[in-house]
Amino acid sequence: MNRDQLTEHLKFAAELGVAGMSRDPEWRIRPGDSSQVSAAPDQQTFQENTAVSTPVPVFRSADEALVAVRTEIGDCTRCKLHTLGRRQIVFGVGNPDADLMFVGEAPGADEDVQGIPFVGRAGQLLTKIIEAIDLKREDVYIANVIKCRPPGNRNPEQDEVETCEPFLFQQIDVIKPKVIVALGTFAARALLRTLDPISRLRGRVFDYRGAKLIPTFHPAYLLRNPSSKREVWEDMKLVRRLLQS
Ligand code: URA
Repeated sequence: MNRDQLTEHLKFAAELGVAGMSRDPEWRIRPGDSSQVSAAPDQQTFQENTAVSTPVPVFRSADEALVAVRTEIGDCTRCKLHTLGRRQIVFGVGNPDADLMFVGEAPGADEDVQGIPFVGRAGQLLTKIIEAIDLKREDVYIANVIKCRPPGNRNPEQDEVETCEPFLFQQIDVIKPKVIVALGTFAARALLRTLDPISRLRGRVFDYRGAKLIPTFHPAYLLRNPSSKREVWEDMKLVRRLLQS
């Protein structure tokens, strides 16, 4: 963690009302609490690698840690999307302790209105895909690489991805899913840092931030190409096996 990141981190901690810290490991344990979750891996690195005594936020639950990430985003003006007609930030929805997480590209028009990812036609298909492996939407966590709707549903641009993706990484590191499904070329490429098309990426399992990442077709693509549902079903059966392992 460099000096600027440390300053940002401490500002964030102060905003959360963290009053102070101790390096005593017992300080982190609260009676009756077995689910200690820190907000992001860089905070863990910070704890392990630095000799400086500085406040480190400790959260009692993944839910609380996600609220802190959402608070940090605020009414975001970090990239140009806030000037390009987005109505609201679409943070993510679902179970903060989910074993399975879906990551899409960016909110569309319906999501922009409702503030919830995957609620339009593609979202309804995603719900069916989730239910196909005997889970409910509430069991999983759903988010996007980009939290604001790009104008006219254009693809997110590089600077927008770079600005926004750290918050997705924080969400992943808080939730710690066993399996992440990257929905479509854009999400798979952004997460895996590759230019390979989804056709080359799907059918494979990647190690990703402590999870197994499965790229599959985006539900919007399936609406246009229903015959590809068969491959997605294969991917979802793989997801189910990984969840059971
Ligand atoms: N497409 C996405 O990638 N994300 C959404 O939230 C909705 C549609």
